[in-house]
Amino acid sequence: MVKATLSPDLIARFAAIVGPAQALVDDGDIAPYLIESRGLYHGVSPLVLRPGTVQEVADILALATETRTAIVPQGGNTGHVGGSVPREEAADVVLSLSRLNRIRDIDPVGNVIVADGGCVLADIQAQAEAVGRLFPLSLGSEGSCQIGGNLSTNAGGTAVLAYGGMRQLCLGLEVVLPTGEIWNGLRRLKKDNTGYDLRDLFIGAEGTLGVITGAVLKLFPRPLGHEVAFAGLQSVKDALALFERASSRCGTALTGFELMPRLGVDFTTRHIPGVRDPLATVHDWYVLIDISTSDAAETATRMMEALLSEGLEAGLVEDAVVAASEEQRKALWHMRESMSPAQKPEGGSIKHDVSVPVSAIPDFMAEADTAVMAAIPGARICSFGHMGDGNIHYNISQPVGADKQAFLDRWREMNHLVHGIVLKYHGSISAEHGIGQLKRDELAAVREPIEMDLMRRVKRAFDPAGIMNPGKVLTA
Ligand code: FAD
Repeated sequence: MVKATLSPDLIARFAAIVGPAQALVDDGDIAPYLIESRGLYHGVSPLVLRPGTVQEVADILALATETRTAIVPQGGNTGHVGGSVPREEAADVVLSLSRLNRIRDIDPVGNVIVADGGCVLADIQAQAEAVGRLFPLSLGSEGSCQIGGNLSTNAGGTAVLAYGGMRQLCLGLEVVLPTGEIWNGLRRLKKDNTGYDLRDLFIGAEGTLGVITGAVLKLFPRPLGHEVAFAGLQSVKDALALFERASSRCGTALTGFELMPRLGVDFTTRHIPGVRDPLATVHDWYVLIDISTSDAAETATRMMEALLSEGLEAGLVEDAVVAASEEQRKALWHMRESMSPAQKPEGGSIKHDVSVPVSAIPDFMAEADTAVMAAIPGARICSFGHMGDGNIHYNISQPVGADKQAFLDRWREMNHLVHGIVLKYHGSISAEHGIGQLKRDELAAVREPIEMDLMRRVKRAFDPAGIMNPGKVLTA
């Protein structure tokens, strides 16, 4: 592996901050930090630093600004846009937050948890559960992604419909600025109108403005009622009509409304061990409906029964099953969360994480399908996602027997095609995964010139030396 250059003297100065055991310089030790979750980006780095305290992070950033050394913050490295890995042919230093993983406080009365930025999401969920509370962010990567990464990507996941995304789940932040200054904004207030909202600038900034070292997160009562159903339908239009009825009937009790195509069910049952189709009949489309209620278990049961019978009567639902146990509820969610990994064994897959206004989903998908099939006859479109949020993972698997590389070489062309249709419907080319390196060059086309200018000015104000994750979100 070609090593990018950083003088031995500078490496020694950085290593002295964390101690030699937490400064990785050997190729074998560094390798896992260089490749992102989908394998699309493979960067190089001469040094990975693993600080154990906030002060160490501050000392690292102060030295980086002094010496103009690029820093790439890395959490669980599960991001999908190449934001967490170093660039190719540069001397970026990776700053791993994994050792900053302390729960600082948990307050079930105030409904908050205060945690280090490197805490793994599943650990936060477990700590909340231990005091009878819920931390509702839930993602397929929750066993390894970290709170700092979730905040930096403004992660969404499966319960945004009821609880909002990471921006809505955060009350306060602690951030180390590129200069090495520490901003303690760990406020626990739901109401605080004192000047500009600095917190919201760091959320979704993908590590380009500072390093999130701590956060105050909201907790919620654990729901007493929980029902999950899996329904077969004829069309995306019918799924939208059912969603409209579900949100009218259930209000904020509607926690998830996920869309899946038959092809996705075929892929998961074929490739993911333990996944089986819970319906005896075959349908073109499916929805997973999740209802949770905090008053009584019966309320969720009543709501689900009424919704499904209304859907059957209206001819929207062709067949449905309601999970009878926690194990079955998890199995239905597991099928939904396996949609993405199940595409891998089918060959190349070109991905789009897009959103459009919910009511435009059927028209957007019909138009995109026609355009993609005209461009690549035989392409297998596996579009699924958080329908209730208008967020579709519009993924295209290669035609059976096609050359994988030749298909993947058309990634940009397909992005251009699909994103053009997304914009026609006033949508977003990145609903929940961010910009990173993957969509950096498209950003200027989808944001107004004045927005690009303001973003650059914010970047310069926070990071005058340009050391924070250069080449991500904005061009370096
Ligand atoms: P990383 O990948 O390490 O980093 C992501 C970005 O944040 C990078 O730009 C990095 O530089 C920056 N960063 C990381 N930590 C910090 C920090 N402490 N301070 C400042 N910057 C930092 N995402 C969704 O939104 N919804 C989903 O449903 C979803 N499902 C997923 C399912 C699977 C199986 C996988 C693999 C990923 C999924 N993702 C999803 C994407 C990913 O898990 C999220 O983006 C997650 O929030 C990233 O967290 P991380 O700790 O892995 O961050």
